[in-house]
Amino acid sequence: MIPLLRELTALISSFPGIGQKSATRISFYLLRQSDQYINNLVDSIKNFHNNVEFCLNCGVIKSTGKECSLCNSTRDQSLICVVEQPSDAFTIENSGDYHGLYHVLMGCLSPLDGIGPESIRLQELKSRILANPSVIEVIIATNPSIEGNATANYIFEDLQEIPNIKISRIAMGLAIGSQIEFADSKIISQSIKNRTQIF
Ligand SMILES: [Zn+2]
Repeated sequence: MIPLLRELTALISSFPGIGQKSATRISFYLLRQSDQYINNLVDSIKNFHNNVEFCLNCGVIKSTGKECSLCNSTRDQSLICVVEQPSDAFTIENSGDYHGLYHVLMGCLSPLDGIGPESIRLQELKSRILANPSVIEVIIATNPSIEGNATANYIFEDLQEIPNIKISRIAMGLAIGSQIEFADSKIISQSIKNRTQIF
């Protein structure tokens, strides 16, 4: 493999879900594209990287220096939907059935990997709820995996001491082992509608 191809495939294969074979195919695909396409792609990656940041409140992304569209006053302030990753919030948002707030944990509890409660945004969740009396329900939408369920149980225990808060878990319309990010929007929509109260 020539060095320039090796360098590019090494970078592309570091993308989530992309292996060496796919990275090589993408490299050859890029080789066949016009200069304009490549310039647009490079500019778009740079713009995204330089002008998008994580919202300190909800943890989803927003334009740098601008108000977060998922935290503003048009959203239903009585609901907070807790997800593992920013991409999960986008998938739920695309279902069109949810208009409340989000809280991204940036991961889930995984003691075997050394990820404890302090490593993800659990304290921020509790602080947000305590600081915002209009919140009446917390919808836990962590993945239906062992870690996702353990995280949901932790949140349930942790928030029990807060009075007048309903805690629900999205219905398990999703197959065990699947990920919210890749789920069909109809399944997501169904899961939000059929959520069950656990407290
Ligand atoms: Zn936000």
